Amino acid sequence: LKMLLKDPSLLETRAYVAGEWIEADDGATFEVTNPARGDVIAQVTDLGRAEVKRAITAAEAAMKLWAARTAKDRAQVMRKWFDLMMENQDDLGKILTAEMGKPLAEAKGEIAYGASFIEWFGEEAKRIYGETIPGHMPDKRLTVIRQPIGVVASITPWNFPNAMITRKCAPAIAAGCGFVGRPASETPLSALAMAVLAERAGIPKGLFSIVPSTKASEIGKEFCENPAIRKLTFTGSTNTGRILLRQAADQVLKCSMELGGNAPFIVFDDADLDAAVEGAMASKFRNNGQTCVCANRIYVQAGVYDAFADKLAAAVEKLNVGDGLTEGVTTGPLINEKAVEKVQDHIQDALDGGAQILTGGQPIEGLFFEPTVVTGITQTMKVATEETFGPLAPLFRFETEKEAVRYANDTIFGLAAYFYARDIGRVTRVQEALEYGIVGVNTGIISTEVAPFGGVKQSGLGREGSRHGIEDYLEMKYICLSV
Ligand code: ADP
Repeated sequence: LKMLLKDPSLLETRAYVAGEWIEADDGATFEVTNPARGDVIAQVTDLGRAEVKRAITAAEAAMKLWAARTAKDRAQVMRKWFDLMMENQDDLGKILTAEMGKPLAEAKGEIAYGASFIEWFGEEAKRIYGETIPGHMPDKRLTVIRQPIGVVASITPWNFPNAMITRKCAPAIAAGCGFVGRPASETPLSALAMAVLAERAGIPKGLFSIVPSTKASEIGKEFCENPAIRKLTFTGSTNTGRILLRQAADQVLKCSMELGGNAPFIVFDDADLDAAVEGAMASKFRNNGQTCVCANRIYVQAGVYDAFADKLAAAVEKLNVGDGLTEGVTTGPLINEKAVEKVQDHIQDALDGGAQILTGGQPIEGLFFEPTVVTGITQTMKVATEETFGPLAPLFRFETEKEAVRYANDTIFGLAAYFYARDIGRVTRVQEALEYGIVGVNTGIISTEVAPFGGVKQSGLGREGSRHGIEDYLEMKYICLSV
C-alpha cells in the first residue's frame, strides 16, 4: 500500500495521543486487512484505557487556549487542514479503499465530502452568535452567550472511515472543543492519516487525538466515566447506541447518536421511471449497500411494478464487482464474513416466504456478493424490519398512496426515506407524512455538509452538518446583569 502513495508518511500506524505519535503502553497491536484481498495491510497500535485517559487530559488543557483564540484564527487553521486533505485526496482515497473496500472513485468522493465538513464548520466558527434579550425589569440587561461544551469523545463505524469522523471533529473543533476519537478497528488508517494532516495544518498539540483500539467497550466506558468528557458523539448501530446512552446517564453526558436506518424508497405510478431507477441504484448500491441511508425497502406501485423491476434488474446487471483499486470497478467487497451471511440470510428468508430472484443472489469467492434484485417481498419478511447493509434490492408491491406511507412508517427507525412522484399534491402529502429526519424527493442522493443530517425515532438524536450541526457542541449561558 505504501508503494501506491505519493506521500507514504500518510500511512501512519501509531496512535496520535496528546500531540505525540505513540505505541501502546503494553506494546499491543492489531491487524488491519484489505477486505477485497484478505491480506494484512497494517499492524496498528492497540491502545488501552490509560492512554485514552491521557488523550482526554491533554484535550482538556489544549482546548482552553484554543477556545480563547479568535474564531477567524481557528477558521484559518481548519481551512489549512481542509486544503491539505484535498491536496492529498488521491492518497487518502487509496488508504480508504485498501482498508474498507469501496471503489477508489467513491473513496475519493468520501474524502471530498469528509473534508467539506472541515471547511464548512471552520467558516461557521465565525457565526457562533449570542443574543440580547429585552430585560424583564428596568434595571436588568439579559444576554446569552454560547461557549464550547467541553472535551468531545467520538465513536465511529467503518463504513465511512473519513467522513463519519470529520462530521464530528469539525464542529467540535470549530466550536472550541477538544476531541478524542476512536475509529472503528476495521478502518483506523484513514483516521490516523487525517491526524497526520491535522498536525501539519497546525491543529494544536493535544486538541485532537485519534485512539485506535480493539477494546471498544473499555474505551466506551472511559468516555462515559471520565469527568472531563462533556459530550459523546456516536455513529453506529441502534443497539450499541442504546448501551452508550445507558452508560452516559451516570454523568448526564450530552449525546449525539446517528443510529441505524431502514430506508423506504417509494416509486409511485406517476414517477419518471428512468429517474427512479437511477435514484434507486445510487441509493441502494452506493458503498455496496453499506450506508445507514441506503434504500432498504423498495415499494413500487402496482401499475409500474413490472416495468420498474425490469429496468432495475437491467441496471444492476451492469454493475462491476471487484477490488476497488481496479479501474472500472463499481462495487467492492462487503466488510466481513458476517456481512455476507446477513445478505444471504435475508435472501433465503425472502425465498422461503415465496419471493423470487430477478438477478444475482449468490456470494462470490472472498467477501464479494452479486448485486441482487428480489421481487415479491412482503411486510412479514426480515428485510422489512432489518437493515440488510448489503447489495440486496427487495421489491414490494403496493396499491395506494396511503398503503405506501403506512408501510414506509412501519418501523422503529426514521433516518432517511425517498420517493419518486410528479403530482404536486401527492409530493406534498407524502413528504409531510413520512416519519423520517431526511426525505429525498425524486433523488436518491441526499448527503451534503450544508444540510442537517439525522434521524427521528430510534435512528438517533441530534443533527450533523448545516448551521445546526454546531449546536450540539455548544452550551448556552444566560447572563442576567443588574445595572
Ligand atoms: P457496526 O455494525 O457499524 O459495526 P456497531 O454499533 O457495532 O455498528 O459499531 C460502531 C462502533 O461502535 C464501532 O467502532 C464499534 O467498535 C463501537 N462499539 C461497539 N460496541 C461498543 C461499546 N459497547 N462501547 C463502545 N463502543 C462500541
